[in-house]
Amino acid sequence: FYGHAHTSEKPKDKLLGGLLSPGFNEASCLSRYGSILYRKLSPHKPSPYLISKLRNYESLHKQCGTNTESYNATLNHLHRPRHDISDNDTCKYVVLLFVGHSGVGNRMLSLVSSFLFAVLTNRLLLIDQGDDVAALLCEPFPDTTWALPLDFPLRNQFESFDSNHPHCYGNMMKNKTVELSMDDSSPPPFVFLNLVHDYNEHDKRFFCDRDQSIMKEVPWLLIRSNQYFIPSLFLMPLFEKELSKLFPEKETVFHHLGRYLVHPSNQVWGLITRYYETYLAESDERIGIQIRDFSSTGLPFQSSKELPFTYMMDRILDCSAQENLLPRVITNAQNSVLNATRNKKTKSVLVTSLSSWYFEKLRNMYRDNPAITGESITVFQPSHEESQQSNNAQHDMKTLAEIYLLSLMDEFITSPWSTFGYVAQGLGGLRPWILSNPLREMDSDSPCRWATSMEPCFHYPPSYGCGAKTGIDTGARVQYVRLCEDISWGIKLF
Ligand code: GDP
Repeated sequence: FYGHAHTSEKPKDKLLGGLLSPGFNEASCLSRYGSILYRKLSPHKPSPYLISKLRNYESLHKQCGTNTESYNATLNHLHRPRHDISDNDTCKYVVLLFVGHSGVGNRMLSLVSSFLFAVLTNRLLLIDQGDDVAALLCEPFPDTTWALPLDFPLRNQFESFDSNHPHCYGNMMKNKTVELSMDDSSPPPFVFLNLVHDYNEHDKRFFCDRDQSIMKEVPWLLIRSNQYFIPSLFLMPLFEKELSKLFPEKETVFHHLGRYLVHPSNQVWGLITRYYETYLAESDERIGIQIRDFSSTGLPFQSSKELPFTYMMDRILDCSAQENLLPRVITNAQNSVLNATRNKKTKSVLVTSLSSWYFEKLRNMYRDNPAITGESITVFQPSHEESQQSNNAQHDMKTLAEIYLLSLMDEFITSPWSTFGYVAQGLGGLRPWILSNPLREMDSDSPCRWATSMEPCFHYPPSYGCGAKTGIDTGARVQYVRLCEDISWGIKLF
C-alpha cells in the first residue's frame, strides 16, 4: 500500500505494527497517525517485547511525570540528603540537554539514544526545552509531557555543565568523589554525563558496566549529547541480553525508535505534506539526494579549493548511473527526439542541500537534455538556506521537513558524516548509497557505496575497553557492531 493523503482507502496500520499507542488525540498531532498515508509499509516489525516495553514506559512516564507527587518527591532529593527520604519506589530520571549549536540531525540522534538508555535503566526521559523542540515535535507519550519544567532547580546551571564541572561523572571518578559517597550509601542527588563528541576518557566510563551500577542509585542523570551512542550500549554486557530481546533485528533500532519518537509538529507536517502532494506524489519513483558538502562548516567535503562543487557533483552523477538510480543524458541533440519518446516512466529527484548549486545543475541537465532511458526526470529542492543556523525555529522546521521528505523516498543517496542523512535513512528504512570522498578517509575509486545497514553511525565511540589500558577494536566484540562506512573510527549496528 502506497497511498496518498487523497486516497479514499482507510489506512490499514496507523499504529505501525503496535509501535504507537492508540491513546492520542489525532488532530493535536496529524503526523502521528497520518504518516502511513505517505510511507510504504515497513517490512520491519517491532518485536512484541519492544511493544510491551514501550507500553510499560508510557505508564511509568504517566506515573512519574512532571505534574505528579513522585516527581516532586524526587525533586526534593536535590535539596536534602538522600537518607532523609524514604525512597523504596522513587522515580528516577534522565534529563537530556542538547548541545546549543548542534543541528536537527544530531539532536534527533541524541534524543533517540537517551530514550533507549532511559528505557534500559527504568528511568523517565525529560528534555530541556531551552530550544525549540516543541515547535518541531509532538509529545510522544500519551497524557503527559516530556518537557522539563522551566523552573527545574538546576536549570540555571546547565550552561556551566562540562567535563570539568564538579558534578560531571567523569570528573567525579577522576577525583574519586563518587566512590566516597557510595561508601556511606548516599549517592549524589544528580550527576552530569558529558557525551558530547569531544568528551574525555573519564566521561567515556559511562559505557562501562561497573560505572552504570554506580549511577543506578542516582535519581537525576543529566546527559548532554549530540551523538548516536546506541551502538556502544550494545557492546556492554549489562544491556546485551535485554537489547537482543528488544531488537532481534539489530539494524532496526533507530528505525523503530525514530518512528516512535519523531512525530513532526502540525506546522512541520504542513510543510511536508504540501510539498509532497504538490511535487512528489504523482511520480512513478522518487530518489532523494542529501548533499552535505560541509563547505559552510570549515570542514569542506573536498580539501582542495579548486572546483569544490563539481567534484561532488561528478560523484553524484557517477553514483546515480552506476547504481541505476538516475540515467545519464544524451548531450547530442540529434538523437534526442527519437530517444525521448520511448519510456513514459517519471522520476522525481528531491535534492536537499544548503546550496542551490547542485539542484540547478541537475535540473538544467535533465531539462536541457533527454535521458538515455527516455524517462522523464524532474528535480526539486525545497529550500537552500545557504548556511547552518542555531536557535532559529523556522530554519529548524524546514530542516526537519526536508529530513522527513527524504525519508519518504524510494531510494536514497547521501553524504558521508551527515547526521541529517542518518535520520532520513533510519526513519525511511532506507539503506543509502553513501558518496565516497577519496580525498578524505573514504579512499575508494567507486563514486559511492551501499551502506551495510540503515543504522546511524556513532561518530565518537569510546576506543578503550573498560579497565583496559590499550586500544581495542570496538567493532570486533559482537558480530552485529562494525566500523562505519563513512568514518573509520565510528561504529554502527547492522
Ligand atoms: P549534519 O551536520 O549533516 O550532521 O546534520 P545536522 O542536522 O546535525 O546539522 C546541520 C544543520 O545545517 C541542519 O540541522 C540544518 O539546520 C542545516 N542544514 C544542513 N543541510 C541542510 C539541508 O539540506 N537543508 C536544510 N534545510 N538545512 C540544512
